[in-house]
Amino acid sequence: MGDSAETLFERIIGGEIPADVVYQDETTFAFRDIRPQAKVHVLVVPKTRYRNLGELAAADPRLLADVARTARKVAEIEGVLESGYRVVFNTDGDAGQTVFHVHAHVLGGEPLGFFGA
Ligand code: C5P
Repeated sequence: MGDSAETLFERIIGGEIPADVVYQDETTFAFRDIRPQAKVHVLVVPKTRYRNLGELAAADPRLLADVARTARKVAEIEGVLESGYRVVFNTDGDAGQTVFHVHAHVLGGEPLGFFGA
């Protein structure tokens, strides 16, 4: 589960920090990224905190499936199921992870360039 200090995303989920919420259910929470990298850019976060994708997958694969299902739901809500979308989990330093509460970036709404170094 990582450190005990509350992360930014726990404060967003708890409503302490305002966010543009797209969808939520019992186990997941989805809101618009404040610095969108595409026309559609939504973050999907499990309500229980794990540091990254690997920790989530090892500890609670069912919750990982919930995150994947919510990513698809977000794509449906945002109208990009047909046009296509990308799901990204940045993990640690070289990937530029800045918030250590695992989250999926759901990107779409326009053609996306290839990514990497
Ligand atoms: O994958 P990474 O950890 O870099 O992603 C964190 C994301 O959280 C960034 O895309 C950033 O724009 C977003 N963010 C946000 N609202 C905040 C702080 C960060 O949407 N208050």
